[in-house]
Amino acid sequence: MNTNRELVMIPGPTPVTEPIRKQLGRETAAFKDPNFVEDFKEVISDLTKLWNSSEVFVVSGSGTLAMEMAIANTLKETDSVLVISHGFFGDRMVDLCKRKGLDVDVLSSKWGKAISVEEIKEKLAKKKYKAVAVTHVDTSTGVKASLDQLGEVLDKHPETLFIVDGVCSTAGEPEFMYEMGIDVLITASQKAFGVPPGLAMVWVSEKAMSRREEIGDICEYYLDFDRWLPVMKNPDKYFGTPPVNLIWALKEAVQIIKNEGLLERFKRHQIRGRAVQKALEGLGFEILAEENVRASTLSNPLYPEGIEDGEFRKVLKEEGVVVAGGLGPYAGKLFRLGHMGNIDTNELVTVISAIERTLFRLDYPVEFGKGINILLENIMKKEKN
Ligand SMILES: *Cc1c(COP(=O)(O)O)cnc(C)c1O
Repeated sequence: MNTNRELVMIPGPTPVTEPIRKQLGRETAAFKDPNFVEDFKEVISDLTKLWNSSEVFVVSGSGTLAMEMAIANTLKETDSVLVISHGFFGDRMVDLCKRKGLDVDVLSSKWGKAISVEEIKEKLAKKKYKAVAVTHVDTSTGVKASLDQLGEVLDKHPETLFIVDGVCSTAGEPEFMYEMGIDVLITASQKAFGVPPGLAMVWVSEKAMSRREEIGDICEYYLDFDRWLPVMKNPDKYFGTPPVNLIWALKEAVQIIKNEGLLERFKRHQIRGRAVQKALEGLGFEILAEENVRASTLSNPLYPEGIEDGEFRKVLKEEGVVVAGGLGPYAGKLFRLGHMGNIDTNELVTVISAIERTLFRLDYPVEFGKGINILLENIMKKEKN
């Protein structure tokens, strides 16, 4: 029962590896320190190149700030926006857009399912939208939107910006700004980048930068691209104090991504995501998201008959693993397990083993090693060649 180390496997913050953590303990430099300015420049340049964007903004804040930044800089009051919602965070985008006084239309799926391309096409044929916003992976349901298909549809609507909430996907699921026609992509540091919380990141296409110019002055101050752009071009300039140590941590995370290779990283997430999901199914859980729209970055397993949420997560924590509870209508019915970022095989084995031990302690029929066997069969064989 006693564990030396607690493994936090919620869908953000995700585990932070030693080299990244070390950056946080460094003596904080002046934000004009030439070495720091160089480091910040390199981060901006790498992020722009890796995701093939025109600009990127890296500022202090959480994912929600990034969402607000995306909307504030591309849409003005009464502009029409279509939000495709696959759960809690899609609904948050709806709220945010309504608060801003936008003309908001919503396509909401049943939790666990995705909105079909046909429905989206139909909506777009009936009305002109200034933007379409979608959550790539909705953390509440584990549903992944098809950005490929959406991008293709939006290709025929050049007046419409494509805004993607990648908070639970960026650096874990394939997102290619140019190829998929994404205009604004947002994320936060604490999810698939594996950096502690505190950084909001917003990638922007040329088209979205033109939209920013078109809409003129905006009332938001801290969120304004115009105020941050000179800093992103040259971090020697000041607008708001950059979180120096977090930028260093992000630089380390980007280095890890470059060493691994972005495509390799996506593939790793896909193989391991599926392996974890199969292992959970083997142990008696059902995954909420339908198989063809299932995310690789996290899993939302529904409890089998007889397992109570509070008890399960309490015992699992005693066994050394922390997971998150369900949101909205699925509170108490499922748990949310993050497996994105810089997670290794040992950690995944630990998680599945802890789940087996928890089921056993809760008198649920379990064959020790069954989940581990499925997990390793899927990871080791698929990653061998
Ligand atoms: C976590 C999350 C957010 C919100 O991010 P915060 O950093 O908690 O503000 C938004 N969208 C998605 C898809 C998320 O997973």
